[in-house]
Amino acid sequence: MTERIAVIDVNARREGRRYSTLDVIGAGPRHVVGFLRHLGFEAQLYSFEYVVRHPRCLEEYDILAISAMITDYVAVNTLVKLWRKLQPSKPIVLGGPLTLSPSLLQALDFDIAIVGECELPLEEIAQRYGSLSEAARDPNVCSIKGITTKLRGGKGEISRWAPRDVIERYTPDIDGVKRYDFWWACRVYVEIVRGCSNFYRPRFAHDGRRCLGCNLCRSGSLEQRMKCPVNIPPGCGYCSVPLVHGPPRSRSVDSVVNEVRSLLNLGVTRVVLSAPDFLDYGRDLLVHPQPLTDPRDPPPNIDAIEELLRKVTTLPQVTEGTAAILIENVKPCLVNEYVAEVLGRYLRGTPVFIGVESGSDALLERIGRPSRVEECIKAIELLKRAGLRPYIYLIHGLPSETDYDLRRSLEFVARVRKLGIEKIVLYRFTPLPRTAFEGFPRPPPAVARSGARELYNAVTKLNRESKRTLLGKRLRVVIASTYPKKRGYLVAYPLRHGPTTLLRGSPRLIGAVCEAVIERIVSDRLVEGRIVSVIKRIARV
Ligand code: SF4
Repeated sequence: MTERIAVIDVNARREGRRYSTLDVIGAGPRHVVGFLRHLGFEAQLYSFEYVVRHPRCLEEYDILAISAMITDYVAVNTLVKLWRKLQPSKPIVLGGPLTLSPSLLQALDFDIAIVGECELPLEEIAQRYGSLSEAARDPNVCSIKGITTKLRGGKGEISRWAPRDVIERYTPDIDGVKRYDFWWACRVYVEIVRGCSNFYRPRFAHDGRRCLGCNLCRSGSLEQRMKCPVNIPPGCGYCSVPLVHGPPRSRSVDSVVNEVRSLLNLGVTRVVLSAPDFLDYGRDLLVHPQPLTDPRDPPPNIDAIEELLRKVTTLPQVTEGTAAILIENVKPCLVNEYVAEVLGRYLRGTPVFIGVESGSDALLERIGRPSRVEECIKAIELLKRAGLRPYIYLIHGLPSETDYDLRRSLEFVARVRKLGIEKIVLYRFTPLPRTAFEGFPRPPPAVARSGARELYNAVTKLNRESKRTLLGKRLRVVIASTYPKKRGYLVAYPLRHGPTTLLRGSPRLIGAVCEAVIERIVSDRLVEGRIVSVIKRIARV
């Protein structure tokens, strides 16, 4: 009999619920389900909320597979206990960023954990055992790279990166998105590139390792950049993507377009073409068969990017204005006039996220960033001129940050304010497992630290001011749900991204795409508006 596997998306559920960005459906769990089916298993995707509401749905499964982040320990534990009560003898498989932390794995009850990408370890399990239950019974399953068990104390090597042809071989799950709350209004992530091209490294690591200055990771050949003589992990010091996912591998235009088409036909209204850097799309093909480990050269593969954007933005729901295509991050050093012009042609009016991280070149160099401050400013100007809405990320409290660096960031905020930037997201540095900075302490919140506090205040002021420019503007929104805190109000999300919008209206409008006028700024994240017209009813709620 075919093994039945319930894959539960617990990502960002922390203690059991999401506190922000409630409207995201990630790509990872959909990929896991798609690949399990490709291997011959019967797999279904569930959101954490769905399982909490319908726990008995788990009774028909042989395996519980959980995808979670390191902040989700409590929610994962809740699910593990539920499964052990319902199915005491059946195995639990863990995956997702959570498994990068051996200490969390030691604290959790599970049978098998996949550390890193799932494809190659699962393929080997399928070939060797034919069943995940069989694999869970064999202590030698740990000999598969990327697999660890409770007996091993959760310690294990990261899996090998799945080659492009393996990622290309299967279709991520589509129908499972219907088991997420207000799925029709969620941003559904479609992976277009796996891995990151930044194989620069920080100049230091948490355990005292120091860069020797050999410059291999910055100017060596693409192959040479894979290794550092002192084993500092590749990429920015706070990020594990290059180590865990390797250099970029792009999916084909056809497979991405087919996935986007299926999601839109289902009733999804917002699709995010997801990649650590959108501009790495197809750039790996320019250096193939070498690994793309240079974040700056060659320039973006405009032909591949344009073909992809042309095909996804001419799907009927997008051209009729009842669905939107969004992108996420770009590296400033890859933005030039031509790139900005092409992005503007297909994505006008949508945000583009730029990881600036600091206004100090000295700090950017120390932590392994490939772009410099003036490149960030230039990229922002070009993208804005092309009709996109640049959103900026900054981080405070990074290891080695000085008062000088914080002052430079403050100056940077003043400069981009003059450019009319709509939003800056200021993150607090968080040490993540398997990164160069994993052992550094988490700094206090920005408001509790001189220097960072001024930066926080400047960012908050900019974000508040920019919200005011929305007053009187028309936005096309999709209505997600009723608003539990205020009777008679609905929660809506702008199709092309923007603040959560409250609208007065009948619950019968849930699932509709509407035009609304913004009339009041409620807070940093919330605005209130009035429905002007109903464009289309999308979802059968
Ligand atoms: S981080 Fe490693 S590879 Fe890069 S320059 Fe320093 S020693 Fe060389």
